[in-house]
Amino acid sequence: MGSSFEISSFVPYGLIVESVDEFEDMIKVRVSSEAGKAACPSCGSVSQRVHSRYLRQVADLPCTGRRVALTVIARRFFCGAENCRRRIFAERFDEAVLGMRARRTARLDHIVHHLGLALGGRPAANFAERLMLPVSNDTLLRIVRRRACPMAGPLTVVGIDDWAFRRNHRYGSIVCDLERRRVVALLPDREIATVEAWLAKHPEIKFLSRDRGGGYGEAAAEALPGAIQVADRWHLMENASAAFLDAVRQSMRLIRTTLGVVTINPELLTCAEKLQYEGYLRREETNASILRLAKEGVPIKQIARQLGCSRKLVRHAVRGETGDVFRTRESTLDAHLPFLNAEWENGCRNGAELWRRLKAIGFRGSPRVVGEWAGRRRRAEKSADQQVQKVPSARMIARMMTLARDQLSKADSVTIAAIVAGAPALAEAQKLIERFLAMIRSKIAEDLEPWIAEAKVSLLGSFASGITKDKAAIRAAIVEPWSNGQTEGQVNRLKVLKRQMYGRAKIDLLEARLIGAA
Ligand SMILES: [Zn+2]
Repeated sequence: MGSSFEISSFVPYGLIVESVDEFEDMIKVRVSSEAGKAACPSCGSVSQRVHSRYLRQVADLPCTGRRVALTVIARRFFCGAENCRRRIFAERFDEAVLGMRARRTARLDHIVHHLGLALGGRPAANFAERLMLPVSNDTLLRIVRRRACPMAGPLTVVGIDDWAFRRNHRYGSIVCDLERRRVVALLPDREIATVEAWLAKHPEIKFLSRDRGGGYGEAAAEALPGAIQVADRWHLMENASAAFLDAVRQSMRLIRTTLGVVTINPELLTCAEKLQYEGYLRREETNASILRLAKEGVPIKQIARQLGCSRKLVRHAVRGETGDVFRTRESTLDAHLPFLNAEWENGCRNGAELWRRLKAIGFRGSPRVVGEWAGRRRRAEKSADQQVQKVPSARMIARMMTLARDQLSKADSVTIAAIVAGAPALAEAQKLIERFLAMIRSKIAEDLEPWIAEAKVSLLGSFASGITKDKAAIRAAIVEPWSNGQTEGQVNRLKVLKRQMYGRAKIDLLEARLIGAA
């Protein structure tokens, strides 16, 4: 190891040490510039004629556990150029060493900046104090803000989304530059006025990707009428799935019928009875729905489509030709099934006796009907351990119907095939959803208009009218390459940062850290 160690190698490049004063908690170093001359900032001509000297107090990186304070002896020069309006100028140091009016050396500034990015305001200030870095909370924030990367170009494509300050309590908005994959701004809320004011300051925005909530779309329409709004594809696909699930829910009754399974009172009734009683209730209900829709003025064709029954049947019901539109052989017995069942459970297993008891409460059918019922009931009890096949949930059916056929088990394929055959309206809704997703994948919007026309009269009616209201943005979502996917990523980054700040996240610091760390 060489023993000759230049004290000047401690101070930033380009400065030479004039003197050093050591104190218990601090080292004061007097430095001056190495250069004997300086260039005039106005005309660029180099001057060696010193006008005067002055002192600048600058903080530097700590040394041996003590703060280091530099006293920089800076000079003023005469400018010698004849046609220069500036007569005197102060010498400037390399920006990478010491900024023009900086109170800290560039290398200290750099460390402080990263401390601010990593820890945020107060924790960073506390830690800086431990490291003998003389910065306050405010200074940290200022440095983080000042050093935030400046915009690299005009802001053309932005994505906007919301994020939770506190879940279910307070929400803010985040704006991202989708071209450069950077956060541009955090807004303190998601009010239309706030977003509109911010957007109005950026007329250069040409594309705006946003969710389908409506608020952001409204703000953008006001502030940037010329910009193309793009509905977020992810939300769009979510909405489509939700709409289909809704269609399945609407069709559950029909699906249960189709699959020949019932769900009422499983303790009370045996399999065969359940089928009968459910059928009775279902017919009653179908009848009521038909009459309700007819009253609302819905055309017969659409009622048939919506409820999944034949037009003939709807017509019958509308004309009030029959209370029980299906009129089966057991129909006289259906209404009395709970009574019959209760008697059976009480030990009355004789058909004739059952008929007498039924007759006493107003049953007008023949003893034969009751006798047959008792026989079926006996047979059903013998096979009581044969469990009723469980109807899959609406969610499960929706998923199975949207899966590729080869991904389904054989049993599931059979179930789905039965549903498709038994609930044609639902099968149609499924085809419509497939077409919608295909449009998004293929990025071709030609099918949009015909699709809307067809979907409006299907089980997806309300989804279709939502699409109509937001048609331009949805067309853009299909055709344009922009999507809010990366904005969601930025929201996740934001959550991590926010958590690091122990819930004391002030929006300006959060914003500075997000933008600065990009
Ligand atoms: Zn000059």
